[in-house]
Amino acid sequence: MKEYTEPRMHTAEHLLNQAMVRLFGRGRAFSSHIERKKSKCDYRFSRDLTPEERAALEAAVNAAVRAALPVREDLMPRELAEKELDLGRLPEGAGGEKLRVIRIGDYDACPCIGPHVASTSEIGAFRIISTGYADGVLRIRFKLDD
Ligand SMILES: [Zn+2]
Repeated sequence: MKEYTEPRMHTAEHLLNQAMVRLFGRGRAFSSHIERKKSKCDYRFSRDLTPEERAALEAAVNAAVRAALPVREDLMPRELAEKELDLGRLPEGAGGEKLRVIRIGDYDACPCIGPHVASTSEIGAFRIISTGYADGVLRIRFKLDD
């Protein structure tokens, strides 16, 4: 399973995924590459984003950062989690009877094994570096202000 070592970047990934779900009604990233300086997430999509959409997405993530949402870990029985959450990306057999679900305020909930910040205020300003589209995949590259 994938190792995460950048709690700020990785928690920003959760916020970006939820913002994509809310703004565009598509799924969370199916693939991501998280590093300290810059990261990228890939989404199933039909086109590139317009500059207005990029700005709206960036604003949505930054609103969640500024709201200083608490990030907490919740061990949920699997059948309950299956009803509430999209478990599509969960590896087969992961988590056993209880799943570790990460809740970011009331904004996002997602099963995850990675390390997270305690509050979204620790993430700092979120910037989209660029977006690109090819073969049904929208790639979003982003960074955080130090
Ligand atoms: Zn996570």
